[in-house]
Amino acid sequence: MSGEPSSSAQPDEVGAGFWVAGDEAAARLKAMLDESRVEDEVSEEQFQVNNQIQEDEVLALQAIYGDDMVIFDNMDGLRFFQISLHYQLQGQIKVYLNVCPNEATETGDDEDDNDRLLYACNLQHLPPVVLTCLLPGGYPSSCPPYFVVVAKWLDEPEVSRFCSVLDEIWTELPGQEVVYRWADWLCSSSWSCIASDDQLVLGPDANSTGGDERAIGRSRILDSTIPRMRDYSDETALQVFDQSIHECGVCFGEDAGSNFVKLPCDHSFCVKCMESYCSIHVKEGSVTRLTCPDTSCRSPLPPSALRRLLGEDGYARWESLALRRTLDTMPDVAYCPRCNAACVASGDDAQCSACFFTFCAQCGDRRHVGGACVLPEEKLADLLEQQKQARPSVRDLVNMSEEQERLEQRKVEELLSLREVLRSTRQCPSCRMAIAKIEGCNKMVCHNCGQFFCYRCNRAISGYQHFENGECGLFQRVGKGRFPGTMNSHPDLDEDVEIKEPGWIRAIRYPCPTCGRKRTKAAGGNNHLVCRECRTQYCALCFKRVWKASEHYGLSGCQQNS
Ligand SMILES: [Zn+2]
Ligand SMILES: [Zn+2]
Ligand SMILES: [Zn+2]
Ligand SMILES: [Zn+2]
Ligand SMILES: [Zn+2]
Ligand SMILES: [Zn+2]
Ligand SMILES: [Zn+2]
Ligand SMILES: [Zn+2]
Repeated sequence: MSGEPSSSAQPDEVGAGFWVAGDEAAARLKAMLDESRVEDEVSEEQFQVNNQIQEDEVLALQAIYGDDMVIFDNMDGLRFFQISLHYQLQGQIKVYLNVCPNEATETGDDEDDNDRLLYACNLQHLPPVVLTCLLPGGYPSSCPPYFVVVAKWLDEPEVSRFCSVLDEIWTELPGQEVVYRWADWLCSSSWSCIASDDQLVLGPDANSTGGDERAIGRSRILDSTIPRMRDYSDETALQVFDQSIHECGVCFGEDAGSNFVKLPCDHSFCVKCMESYCSIHVKEGSVTRLTCPDTSCRSPLPPSALRRLLGEDGYARWESLALRRTLDTMPDVAYCPRCNAACVASGDDAQCSACFFTFCAQCGDRRHVGGACVLPEEKLADLLEQQKQARPSVRDLVNMSEEQERLEQRKVEELLSLREVLRSTRQCPSCRMAIAKIEGCNKMVCHNCGQFFCYRCNRAISGYQHFENGECGLFQRVGKGRFPGTMNSHPDLDEDVEIKEPGWIRAIRYPCPTCGRKRTKAAGGNNHLVCRECRTQYCALCFKRVWKASEHYGLSGCQQNS
């Protein structure tokens, strides 16, 4: 999918606000309030008692949830607050994305699609489940709080089910403070409704209508939710890294993560060591040795890290050195004979991106169709001459005059911007329209003719089959690291780092012995399933109801993972 243009994004659509959906939650609470206002009658005396209980409860919640709790201005004179709840994961969790391979809508009853395909990825942190409450005057003596549960990454029916459990929790002990019990259930016990301990299956996208009005679930297609979830997980992992103490592999000093540089290869070193390491190499012109200092790793350092470590001047110098080196080994770069800008050539043809002059990349003449431009011997001599004139060696570059350096710098910038455009844009294989990929997966759709195609290989495709054979991945990963100061302010300069992902996995659907609703389980996953409908716990191997997992599985019983 090509995603939406970022200019149309609402404030709620960016950053952490996306997962909280604050405006939508507030609007729904307002609507509930307007609808039920009339029934909300309590005596003045009872109102005062409730008011005191509410005040104490909010204070207690604040002490427990700290920064995860936000107290808003009262809505129509009622207490109004929101708590972000986080599942505490044991290590990584495997998140499966369930796409119907043929894009058929799921009916739930079809017997023949029991061999489905799932896309898997590993996450360390899941986005929050957000509980927003509005306390009416009758709470807690006669009625529960108005509430909205937001989990923008979960399927809407799951969030609706959360809401009914919250209703049950209130009914168990009516008239008593309930918000802590709700929040506690949401961030602990609710886990068994959506996942078995180490895996979570999301999707497929369904038209959810008639769900609970208090439930706000996933509104976007899964394709764009998964990358967002990954960003959330990465960013949270960085925050955790920043707040803990690490040892530098160069100087063996210990310091907080915020004073470390975390590289995409997952090695990290203290800022001081990295700064001197980088500036020495740039000063000596040994840019190819600018790799991860870990001797067994030696992954190249991403440009965004270098920019921070070297400062603007040092970085500009590094960029010239490194780009020159790349250009010298790139066969498809030509210099415009008119204005000397660097251009990308395709075969012998090149068009200047600055002055639009079309020329022959070999001889520099106006483009000529057919026929060799010059004799091979001449061509060779010419090329060598060109190289001498237009491409100074690294040593020449070091001794360049300021004027020359400025010219070089311009070429470098032009080439970089050209490369960026080429990088993010693809031509529709059907109508040749240029389509930019903004976010999401490699399955692209042409806005002009509706053709689906693969961002990676540019071939026309229909469903998700293309990504199943592993030739092209559904998602492309951009490596991220932790750099001192602000977060990556030049993410466009990050080098693409392919990260190995589990990819596609065959999954089978297992019906619940009580109600028949099927759950998806990937091969190798946990056989202990919990029905999403009736919450029956059952075994995927013997299809029996499981009362105690510790007794059912093990040496004498069923295998727990297979
Ligand atoms: Zn150090
Ligand atoms: Zn490394
Ligand atoms: Zn030109
Ligand atoms: Zn020519
Ligand atoms: Zn098209
Ligand atoms: Zn492809
Ligand atoms: Zn069931
Ligand atoms: Zn069993």
